[in-house]
Amino acid sequence: MAIIHVLDETTINKIAAGEVVERPASVIKELIENSIDAGSKSIDVEIAEGGIAYMRITDDGVGMTEEDARLAVLRHATSKIQAVEDLFDIASLGFRGEALASIASVSHFSLTTRKQDSDLGTRITIDGGSFTDCIPYGAAPGTTIEVRELFYNTPARRKFLKTDRTESSKIQDIVGKLALSNPHISFKLTVDDKVSIITPGNGTVTDTVTALYGYKTREDLFPIAYESESIVIDGVVSKPTLLKSTRGWQTIIVNNRVISDRTIAKAIDNAYHALLPKNGHPLVVLNIIVPAEMVDINVHPRKSEVKFSDDKIIFKAVYHGILNALDNPLHQRYERESS
Ligand code: ADP
Ligand code: MG
Repeated sequence: MAIIHVLDETTINKIAAGEVVERPASVIKELIENSIDAGSKSIDVEIAEGGIAYMRITDDGVGMTEEDARLAVLRHATSKIQAVEDLFDIASLGFRGEALASIASVSHFSLTTRKQDSDLGTRITIDGGSFTDCIPYGAAPGTTIEVRELFYNTPARRKFLKTDRTESSKIQDIVGKLALSNPHISFKLTVDDKVSIITPGNGTVTDTVTALYGYKTREDLFPIAYESESIVIDGVVSKPTLLKSTRGWQTIIVNNRVISDRTIAKAIDNAYHALLPKNGHPLVVLNIIVPAEMVDINVHPRKSEVKFSDDKIIFKAVYHGILNALDNPLHQRYERESS
């Protein structure tokens, strides 16, 4: 008898979940990205106990038919690509087709969805990867996903979670960043019954920044608008005095994806280096558009990093873009007034 066997679907999903779903904030990120891809105008997130006990994401996007909803929760099932070539210049945030299957395999999961033009919706429930129910369901158009008791069946992973407070703050962080990268969508986050974030969804980055970080930040922001070697950057950068001890106020968006990237972080640090009155990280929201052939988006299961064909070009664009923005006349006026 062979000692090798192909793993069953539920086990495969649980293993994959280890990569895609690191913590509640990664669930929130995947689900919000799905809502964005679905063309939502408004996304409502509610969490309890750091998201570990409960998370719910409601959107007003296109919704799914029953047939699609049943497919959506299968592994490698996606409406977003057909072939790997589609990854080149892809417009959607998702493409791996594993988020829903992974999340549903490590939680008590429900998906309620209704197409904009149908009279009735569908509700699917899954427990630890096992399909439990699929029923017609009265619901508003759009999609709601509920996730309870994350990692209840993978105790090793659950043990690595931090306190509810830390997990909540990681969720606040990612919701804020996704709101900044989608200022035309209105986001609401409720943490343990208290409203924590509301963004206007009016398309303005500055208004989104002030909704997230307080109205006082507003007067310390400069627009950035830069173009060089086919890289285009817009967004806002702050006076060197508007600082935080972490990079929590720094949002890096590359081709509409919120990512973290060392080269870009270094370029920000270097641009501000001589200007900072003390140690810290200024507020920046950089929306960077890079030609598709210069960036590989499929390098990370959580899609939180990308790979550039040439880091130097990116570094230079960010560095000069920020210097340029800080050097604008408004900034010089501020320098004069404060000296
Ligand atoms: P991916 O986003 O990589 O395609 P997911 O597992 O996240 O994979 O989702 C699977 C599919 O389910 C998506 O391709 C999409 O067609 C559908 N879907 C998921 N979430 C939503 C949503 N909020 N609204 C509409 N369709 C959705
Ligand atoms: Mg997805």
